[in-house]
Amino acid sequence: MEKMKKNSVLIVDDESTSIIALTHILGHDYTIYAATDGMEALEVAQEHLPDIILLDIIMDKMDGYEVLSLLKSNSKTENIPVIFITGLGNNEDEERGLDLGAADYITKPFSPAVVKLRIRNLINMLNMIDTIKQLSEIDQLTGIYNRRFFEHQLNILWEHAKRGQIPLSICMIDIDDFKIYNDSYGHLQGDEALQSVAKSIKKTLKRSVDVVARWGGEEFIALLLDADICGALSVAEKIRKNVEKDLIPYVGSKAAHITVSVGVNTLTPTQEHTIHDFISGADNALYTAKRTGKNKVCKYEKTDS
Ligand code: GH3
Ligand code: MG
Ligand code: MG
Repeated sequence: MEKMKKNSVLIVDDESTSIIALTHILGHDYTIYAATDGMEALEVAQEHLPDIILLDIIMDKMDGYEVLSLLKSNSKTENIPVIFITGLGNNEDEERGLDLGAADYITKPFSPAVVKLRIRNLINMLNMIDTIKQLSEIDQLTGIYNRRFFEHQLNILWEHAKRGQIPLSICMIDIDDFKIYNDSYGHLQGDEALQSVAKSIKKTLKRSVDVVARWGGEEFIALLLDADICGALSVAEKIRKNVEKDLIPYVGSKAAHITVSVGVNTLTPTQEHTIHDFISGADNALYTAKRTGKNKVCKYEKTDS
């Protein structure tokens, strides 16, 4: 698929002739931003978050080394790769630039073709990193988030909910009698059923803050921020109903199509609570749903023991 948005490059140089020359070389392939001093560079970088910054070293007021340090000390701009493009050509200068965290170092006078290629290579690498990031967050079979990403988000939202005293709910969703389904229909068809169930759950959860993931095997998990027990039970029931409505045939099962059971747990986190117990509570409720007939939603009930 063709990319909708061009990658962008911020050129920082106090000589406008350099900016014009680099814009001429790169303007066709990239969106160009320009700045003629360090302060302006920091402002433009924060506002536009370019993919790459080409940074001159010798500039009035603030030199390129200082600009790089300030970019690195700001969480918004710290990961933007910086290429020094400078008249300072000796090894010590280059070493200092790379040591400060520059991604590359180009000396003036530069060859237009080499500048173009170095930037293309760096952009390719950035896109590759993006792909790897996606692969590390997404479950390959179903295309929804994986457990690792879910746990990461849960940690963040847990702290957020604790600070703001906001209720947090979790739904643990498990396909009913899926082992027998696999045995009867084969593993490949089992995989397809998993994909359909994932799609159905994802479709049911419409709020952008909700996180749905494959927890493992035939289990899925949903995290609902700012949902009290009534809200969570109603969402869980919607999830259950929507899977049931999809009517994925399952001859021999009680419902004659695939169904899920859901365990729900809700709390407003405090220092006394742990994420582990929060998930265990949902697991516990799921177990109750399984034990008491399946294809149903149960909430976690604290026992005194
Ligand atoms: P229950 O109603 O109590 O949940 O019973 P169950 O059979 O669904 O549960 P059990 O934990 O005994 O079996 C889960 C099955 O899920 C085992 C395995 O065959 C299947 N499964 C797990 N991961 C995958 C997968 O990636 N693809 C396929 N096709 N099947 C999977
Ligand atoms: Mg199951
Ligand atoms: Mg299971």
